[in-house]
Amino acid sequence: MNTKCDRAAWLKGPAFKCNVQPAPAKRSYRLVLLGAPGVGKGTQAELLSQQLGACHLSTGDIFRAAKSLTPAERSPAMTAALDFMKRGDLVPDTTVLDIVRERVECLRCPGGFLLDGFPRTAAQAEALEQILTTEKIKLDAVLSYELPIEEIVTRLSGRRTCTKCKAVFHITALPPKQTGICDKCGGPLIQREDDRPESVRVRMQVYEQSTAPLAQFYRQRRLLASVAATGTPEEIVARTLQTLQARG
Ligand code: AMP
Repeated sequence: MNTKCDRAAWLKGPAFKCNVQPAPAKRSYRLVLLGAPGVGKGTQAELLSQQLGACHLSTGDIFRAAKSLTPAERSPAMTAALDFMKRGDLVPDTTVLDIVRERVECLRCPGGFLLDGFPRTAAQAEALEQILTTEKIKLDAVLSYELPIEEIVTRLSGRRTCTKCKAVFHITALPPKQTGICDKCGGPLIQREDDRPESVRVRMQVYEQSTAPLAQFYRQRRLLASVAATGTPEEIVARTLQTLQARG
């Protein structure tokens, strides 16, 4: 039986209910994951989701899910958002915040949540703080994954993603058994449009300008916990769990 939360309400919007809810946990965690693109946040969010039971809520996944809709099925705001995304630019705050506010039910989920890729600007962080205050929801921590920039560029340019099941490989660090084919479902592997060198450059600049300052925002609120993102994904998740334990 599949026990992994299917995130239908997050990926498709409030008209959809999750068929599989997070399993009841002794303690539910409400976390924000910060870190430059390519630092491995998405992988960590998946592993943490398995360990903690909370759903992995990625705003990037919402936009990628919208890509598979026909243009007629997409709202004009979503069509515009996908153009920003393709270029490696940030989607405007108003669009992102509309999308998150529509999905507030996911923030109320008793299983907790792992926010990945949101907030990404000071305005988004302030808006999230307001939403959480109104909803009387407390963040447990903001995990900031740290890695030297040269390693990030190598990771991003070699990343390959399955078009069907979204599994992530790397041409040297985690190659699939057969080049271009997903080990998990046999689907074709592609380089995400925003992992191409020209988009990666834009994403790194945007990160430095807009998202890096969020560390200070959360440090001031005593929520920031830095985690070294070196080593294998399993080593990093073990380090993350230790960090959470140490915070109590
Ligand atoms: P990610 O998978 O988190 O790297 O997101 C992929 C792309 O989606 C980003 O490069 C942005 O274009 C867009 N995106 C995702 N989340 C946000 C956000 N919170 N604010 C603005 N743009 C976002």
